[in-house]
Amino acid sequence: MRIDLHTHSNVSDGTQTPSDLIRSAATAGLDVVALTDHDQTTGWAPAAETAKELGVGFIPGMEITCQDPNGISVHLLSYLHDPTYQPLLDELELSRDARIIRAQRIVERLAEDYPVSWDLVNEHCQPGATIGRPHIADALVAAGVSENRNEAFANILSSRSKYYVAHPAVRPAEAVKLVREAGGVPVFAHPKASLRGRTVPNSTFYEMIDAGLGGVEIHHRDNSEEGKEWLLDLAAKKNLIITGSSDYHGTGKLNRLGENVTEPEMLQRIIQESSGTQASV
Ligand code: AMP
Ligand code: FE
Ligand code: FE
Ligand code: ZN
Repeated sequence: MRIDLHTHSNVSDGTQTPSDLIRSAATAGLDVVALTDHDQTTGWAPAAETAKELGVGFIPGMEITCQDPNGISVHLLSYLHDPTYQPLLDELELSRDARIIRAQRIVERLAEDYPVSWDLVNEHCQPGATIGRPHIADALVAAGVSENRNEAFANILSSRSKYYVAHPAVRPAEAVKLVREAGGVPVFAHPKASLRGRTVPNSTFYEMIDAGLGGVEIHHRDNSEEGKEWLLDLAAKKNLIITGSSDYHGTGKLNRLGENVTEPEMLQRIIQESSGTQASV
């Protein structure tokens, strides 16, 4: 069984439609795939339909943008939650609205030095998609400023760049609580991705665990080796679910489908703990 529980379509910052992503998952030989777009679930229906046609197992998911009390960005994966649970929807809407204002501010700053505009960025973002820096990166590529997304993130769009603007988002422990209330299973995404920027202090892990954290995404290319060891130890001590995934974004990132996978027993635990929506495996 090859199970990949973290992928993005063009409903957020991936480059393929949800259906095309599922087709790629089938071609890559995956047995089960989760769609985990940033801060929304509009890709679930088309992805589920294509998965059914192709006989691929499908797990509806989402990746929630959070910010810890120290201002550090945290990504929380949610699996099998009820997509109509209003308190969670309210937080997601706030976050997506804040993302639009923040993206506009980044573009304003960039426009002082580079030939990019809000219109150009929108040409690279599907209507209604969760906007983020990857769409701004695509505009920089189209304008001939950057070679690809990765190069744009290495300098102009880095969180250390002078053009960077942060945006407010829900606290990680609060998001964990909301996901559980919605019947979902919360899993901390790439918790030790030290190359992307600062990672959270241990206190944030403990707050999330106290709030009901279900698991940690350990097998992910962005976690440091040292971080993975630490996480394995934490998971053993706190009886957390362990996942491994690609964080595929189509051609937007180097990450390939199935480059990391999750053990079937771990997926079984996710399904058993959930009550928000059905898995089709
Ligand atoms: P934002 O949510 O706007 O802060 O942008 C962060 C998103 O950018 C993450 O969800 C990643 O998928 C994406 N990202 C981060 N680093 C890179 C990179 N080097 N190349 C392509 N995409 C990246
Ligand atoms: Fe992303
Ligand atoms: Fe993430
Ligand atoms: Zn992701």
